[in-house]
Amino acid sequence: MRINIFYLIAGLLSLLLVATLWLLFVPPFYETEAYEMVRNLALIISALLVIVASIQIYLAVRSENAEEERALAKPPVAPTIVKEKEIVREVVMIPCSYCGGLMPQTSMVCPNCGARRKA
Ligand SMILES: [Zn+2]
Repeated sequence: MRINIFYLIAGLLSLLLVATLWLLFVPPFYETEAYEMVRNLALIISALLVIVASIQIYLAVRSENAEEERALAKPPVAPTIVKEKEIVREVVMIPCSYCGGLMPQTSMVCPNCGARRKA
């Protein structure tokens, strides 16, 4: 199973954003009056980002599978043009030693008189 790296990075960045939110943004508000509000805000943002990250990671895994399924559903088109290999064979004709008719060097008997080829 391959993974779409772009969606995966986006998903991980969203998670990184959540971590940043809690590690850098919220701490300065500890023990201040605004802390509870900031924490609630951070919770909401975190929840949204986690949902977004989940979708992105889900897409990272799914999109590649979908492509594979599409590829499987559509079998590769068979080549329509069958290149017929032209076999050029040079046939050497030799005269028959009995009837004098020409016969291919490859044949063992004369097609004209039926005599076996000498040598
Ligand atoms: Zn012959």
